[in-house]
Amino acid sequence: MGDDGDRRFSGPSDLHLHSTRSDGTEPPADVMAAAHRHGLRTVALTDHDTTAGWAEAAEACTSLGMTLLPGMEFSAKHDWRSVHVLSYLFDPDDAPLRAEMDRIRGDRIGRAERIVANIARDYDLTWDDVLAQTMQDATVGRPHIADALVARGLARDRTEAFDGILHPREGYYEPHYAPDPFRAVELVTAAGGVAIIAHPGGRGRMMPDSVLHALIDAGLAGFEIGHRENSAQGKRILRRIAEERDLIVTGSSDYHGRGKPNLPGENTTSDDMVARIIERATGTAPVHPA
Ligand code: AMP
Ligand code: FE
Ligand code: FE
Ligand code: ZN
Repeated sequence: MGDDGDRRFSGPSDLHLHSTRSDGTEPPADVMAAAHRHGLRTVALTDHDTTAGWAEAAEACTSLGMTLLPGMEFSAKHDWRSVHVLSYLFDPDDAPLRAEMDRIRGDRIGRAERIVANIARDYDLTWDDVLAQTMQDATVGRPHIADALVARGLARDRTEAFDGILHPREGYYEPHYAPDPFRAVELVTAAGGVAIIAHPGGRGRMMPDSVLHALIDAGLAGFEIGHRENSAQGKRILRRIAEERDLIVTGSSDYHGRGKPNLPGENTTSDDMVARIIERATGTAPVHPA
């Protein structure tokens, strides 16, 4: 922990993958197998607001000969913007962090029920339809509602559901509780973890430079720059700030199984950057193959 001078991992590395513990479509072991098939040798499981998949992912990685960085994608919100904070190698038993994760996951349930009630005014959709698409105790989100819409024949796939009925312009959207990104960064850092903003350069969704700098002052360790949702312009701005502030820079797929077209390894993180994440973390150790 807090030291990887001997570089026990090897690349290529993809540090952003989702399983059925949140909105991926495959269980953690299958996600790890898919990553391995795509040639990856170091991975992170980063389900939204939960660590429930860590044990299964660790077991799968050990038998596949891959290194696992246990992680999470922490839901935060800056003004109206949803901000995702990739969180690596934090202590999963840290009480303040756990309390916040539990609060977000709990609030997401009522929020998803409200969205479904809104949709049910106009379409044939029930809460049971959504439960049928959601693994017990998974972090529930709009992707599960999308899957229920697909099962009902109301959308062809998740993409069409998000562009249609789930789009805020249709009027069914409801927000869920999420802390501001400063609190998220502080909680993760206090739990010994490394906080990196996921896809910060999405079209029209970038936080102002001044806020990014303030987050770095608050403990933010880096940016996920290699991600298909970052625009070319966003990447340029992020690279400049990362250089100025000597940040960790990552690239990852954001694989969601069949839930998104993103494939494991479509973006990767350099060995040097993986080593910096491991060196900086004190909350939990990476899981290395035997
Ligand atoms: P929520 O956090 O419940 O508001 O849902 C947001 C999640 O939906 C994100 O984590 C994305 O992975 C997923 N998502 C957003 N847009 C799309 C899309 N067009 N197709 C598939 N998944 C999407
Ligand atoms: Fe997601
Ligand atoms: Fe995200
Ligand atoms: Zn993600």
